[in-house]
Amino acid sequence: MYGLTRERAIWLHHHSAEYQRARVDMFKMFGRTCHLCGHGGAGVADHLKPVALYPFQPISPLAMRPAHGRGYPCNECPQHNGKPRRCNEIKGIRVGTKLNTSQEW
Ligand SMILES: [Zn+2]
Ligand SMILES: [Zn+2]
Repeated sequence: MYGLTRERAIWLHHHSAEYQRARVDMFKMFGRTCHLCGHGGAGVADHLKPVALYPFQPISPLAMRPAHGRGYPCNECPQHNGKPRRCNEIKGIRVGTKLNTSQEW
């Protein structure tokens, strides 16, 4: 049997129409405040569970939060290595960071 490879699953996750919809819904629900640093101007969807580690996770707006990232760096945080901070790219460095997955309704 030939199953879905991990790489293919990751690619599909980011390129499916379902993901594009979930992303739009996520910004409607959570606004443009970066969940990592708390500043505005967040424009990328940051998965609470990284897709690279959990490629088969369900696609849902609740699985993501707004964050600063490629094309949408934070203009308020101190620069990171001389460049505007992309919160979603440097969060992985801090090992042991507790994810806040509690839902606020
Ligand atoms: Zn940020
Ligand atoms: Zn910031």
